[in-house]
Amino acid sequence: MRKKQFKTESKKLLDMMINSIYTHKEIFLRELISNASDAIDKLYFRSLTDDSVSLGHSDYSIFININKEEKTLKISDNGCGMTAEELENNLGTIAKSGSFDFKREGDKGDDVDIIGQFGVGFYSAFMVADKIEVVSRPFGAEVANKWTSEGVDGYTIEECGKESFGTEITLYIKEDGEDEKYSEFLEEYRIRGLIRKYSDYIRYPIKMPVTRREKVEGTENEYKNVTTVETLNSMVPIWKKAQSEVTDEEYKSFYGEKFYDFEGPLKVITQKSEGTATYTALLFIPKRAPYNYYTKEYEKGLELYSSGVMIMEKCADLLPDYFGFVRGIVDSSDLSLNISREILQHDRQLKVMAKAIEKKIKSELEKMMRTDREEYDKFFDAFGIQLKYGVYADYGMNADNLKDLLLFHSSGEGNKYVSLKEYVDGMKDEQKAIYYAAGESIDKIEILPQVATVKAKGYEVLYLTDDVDEFALKLLGKYQDKEFKNVTAEALDLLTEDEKEAEKSKNESSEEMLTFMKEAIGKVSAVKWNGALAEHAVCLSSEGDLSLEMAKILKKMPGAEMGVPSASVVLEINMNHPIAEKLAALYESDKDRLAKYAKVLFGEACLIGGVALDDPKEFTSLVSELMI
Ligand code: ADP
Repeated sequence: MRKKQFKTESKKLLDMMINSIYTHKEIFLRELISNASDAIDKLYFRSLTDDSVSLGHSDYSIFININKEEKTLKISDNGCGMTAEELENNLGTIAKSGSFDFKREGDKGDDVDIIGQFGVGFYSAFMVADKIEVVSRPFGAEVANKWTSEGVDGYTIEECGKESFGTEITLYIKEDGEDEKYSEFLEEYRIRGLIRKYSDYIRYPIKMPVTRREKVEGTENEYKNVTTVETLNSMVPIWKKAQSEVTDEEYKSFYGEKFYDFEGPLKVITQKSEGTATYTALLFIPKRAPYNYYTKEYEKGLELYSSGVMIMEKCADLLPDYFGFVRGIVDSSDLSLNISREILQHDRQLKVMAKAIEKKIKSELEKMMRTDREEYDKFFDAFGIQLKYGVYADYGMNADNLKDLLLFHSSGEGNKYVSLKEYVDGMKDEQKAIYYAAGESIDKIEILPQVATVKAKGYEVLYLTDDVDEFALKLLGKYQDKEFKNVTAEALDLLTEDEKEAEKSKNESSEEMLTFMKEAIGKVSAVKWNGALAEHAVCLSSEGDLSLEMAKILKKMPGAEMGVPSASVVLEINMNHPIAEKLAALYESDKDRLAKYAKVLFGEACLIGGVALDDPKEFTSLVSELMI
């Protein structure tokens, strides 16, 4: 029989499994049992609409057989089975190729990371077995097929007999090595322990013949071996158990297997509701965003069950977009088993559940923020941007609901995150507004001249580093009656009445000169004196609704070539800086030179304001020219 080759990437993964030094080899059993359970789910699901499948829920089971002489471990199920073609496609190629292609940031790329972070499925069996046979007969088919592989050099598929439908997997367990005891996987107690640890909630009985020595009745010390079939799992779905009955380890392993994230969740949320809607929910907040989270590929949604039977893998309607990172399960007795997607979408009950789930997630996040701030900061690092989009999306419909979950870096100690409430609570008595500055990074924001000015007043400044930030704040408009003010965008109102007066009259008296400079630059809507700048000679600001940073972001958006509004840029010059006198003198003596000064000052303001120079060549030539 001709041996077939594995696909390249499957081969890589397989090779890694065979040679893995991974300490959690035991997970292979969980993977195989979960596959068996999925296969039964598929057949059971079919039985709901297909009369030819006459089995009821209780007819299904998963069997484990240990044969110590032959050193084999068998896992069989009476699920949907696989055709020869399916054996080829499912076992010859790695199913979740995504898990192999995409390593997360910071991964060193060794096997521990990959096995640890992603479910590796069927192939994990090669961590403990040097040969695997899969005999499978699809429901309704006459013939069965046998898939055999001893590892990387390929596999064979041949027709064979099998009494009934389903799949039987035989693992030929490896010989014990110096450090590795594979033979433990042929011990009943070990298998029993593993089932309890990883697969207790599986909804079908996992059965195993268990042999015990029993005294022969009526004798003194005569014993015989008695074999009985025992069910090893409790079959209570983990989400039906009270949180206090489940260990962190169990949640972690369930979550890992279900959502392919073996780092464990940041937070587990359980909810049990009776009344307008009856359901239990088991929800997880991941530690990190999945690799595809911020792409179109990511599908939000919760797994939906009707009384213990899965009816939809990703029910998107159960989660608002801004909580799309939540993974989990909702099990309700209110929904009918064969409800269609279309009907489900309009189901009143589902809407009630979605509302209650959203409320629960929000209140849990608020609690985390209050009681475990470090954890919340981590959460916000991973998913905060999603919440900010939530504020902005749908014309700010949810802005009010989400505003207290937001965090921003600030000019405070260590640039730590602050919430809007914390900011307002820390405001000075005379402080009127919530000040913020936007830019590409904290470093770039910190050098903005206006930030220095506001900080010199003793006010805190929020640092907005995400593109969406300023748009979100604009939609919020105010927080606790305090307006948001971009330090580079609006009149900041930081001067005393006298200072204000002085600034105003200086602007009026130099109007002609300022207009001359504006025209010389040609790219600004005004040139003004500023009496509040703390140390810098110049800064860039904007007039009107569109800030410099927002204009920059709009320009980056797809479709921007068609034209986007640009900000009205203002060059502000520190009226208390020695440059002020120099400019006035030049206006009298050498207007040509003043024009050049104006351009250079504008260039300076752009540089420190984080705005790209339109014409760097002109700027550098002018600087050199003025030096000579
Ligand atoms: P995953 O289960 O995550 O998709 P696996 O590598 O574990 O990845 O399995 C690949 C595929 O093989 C499964 O998706 C399923 O279609 C099929 N399969 C595995 N085990 C069984 C089984 N016991 N019965 C039927 N199909 C199975």
